[in-house]
Amino acid sequence: MSKLTDISYVKNILAKHGFTFSKALGQNFLINPSVCPKMAEMCGCSETVGVIEIGPGAGVLTSELAKTAYKVVAVELDKRLLPVLEETLSEHDNVEVINGDAMKLDFKKLIEEEFNNGEVVLCANLPYYITSPVIMRLLEEKLPVNSLTVMVQKEAAERICAAPGTRESGAISAAVNYYAEPEMLFKVSAGSFLPAPKVDSEVIKLRILKKPPVAVNDEKMFFRVVKAAFMQRRKTAANSLSAGLGIPKAEINSLLEQSGISLSARAENFTMQDFADIANLLSE
Ligand code: SAM
Repeated sequence: MSKLTDISYVKNILAKHGFTFSKALGQNFLINPSVCPKMAEMCGCSETVGVIEIGPGAGVLTSELAKTAYKVVAVELDKRLLPVLEETLSEHDNVEVINGDAMKLDFKKLIEEEFNNGEVVLCANLPYYITSPVIMRLLEEKLPVNSLTVMVQKEAAERICAAPGTRESGAISAAVNYYAEPEMLFKVSAGSFLPAPKVDSEVIKLRILKKPPVAVNDEKMFFRVVKAAFMQRRKTAANSLSAGLGIPKAEINSLLEQSGISLSARAENFTMQDFADIANLLSE
C-alpha cells in the first residue's frame, strides 16, 4: 500500500512544506488506497506506453503510474507542491514534474519532446473547476493520445458519458461522442479524499476514435448546432436552434423536415446523425 494514502503521513509531509489546501484549485487529494492502482491499471499505460498526468497533487496517483508506465510526465499548476513532489516521488526516476497550467500548456509539443511521438495515454484526478473545459480542450486539439482516463464529479461523469438521444445527454455528451467512446469505469466516494468534497466522483475513460462516428462537412458548424440546440433544453430543438443560430423558425423547421426529425423533438432526442444532418444542410 502506498504511504501516500496514509493520512498522517500525507498531513505530516504537507505540513513540513507549509502547504495548505486551496479550494479554488480543486485540491482534494486521494487517500483511498484502492483507487490509484486501479486507475493506473485501467488507463492503459505500460512499458511501452507513456502517461501524462494533470494535477499530481502530493503524487499519490503519479507514483502508481510510475510503477506501470515507462515514463510519467505530470503537470502541476501549484508551485507550492513542487518541493512536496520532489520528496514523495524521489524513488522514481521515470517521472518528470512540469510546473504549468493544463488549460494553456502546449500538449502537442510536450508529447513530441517528452515521448518522442510514441504512444501516450492521459490519466488524472481532475480539479473539478476545469473538468469540462480541460476535457474539451484535450479532445479538440486532437492530441495523439490513445485515451483519457479521468476522475470527475459524478454528475459531470453522467453528463459526459451520456449517449446522445437520451435524457441525460447535453452539449458535452454530443461533443465527447464526436471524438471518443466514453465509458464509466468505477465510482469513488467523497470519503476517499482529503479534504472530503461534498459529492461523489467517478472514474471515466474516453477512448479516442480514429475517425468521428458521423460525417461532418464543417466541424465548427456541427458544434454551433449542438450548442444552439441545447441552449434552451426545455424548449423544442426547433425553438432553441432558431434562437441560438439566429435563423427564422420556418427555415429551421424545413431543415428538420429534410432530416426526418420531428418538429417537436428536443435536443436530448437528437442522435449524432441528426446533429450532423442539420449542420451539413446549414453548411451547404
Ligand atoms: N492527483 C492528486 C490526487 O489524486 O490526490 C491531486 C488531485 S486534485 C483533485 C487536483 C490537482 O490539480 C491539484 O494538485 C491542483 O493543484 C492541480 N491543478 C489545479 N488546476 C490546475 C491546472 N490548471 N493545471 C494543472 N494542475 C492543476
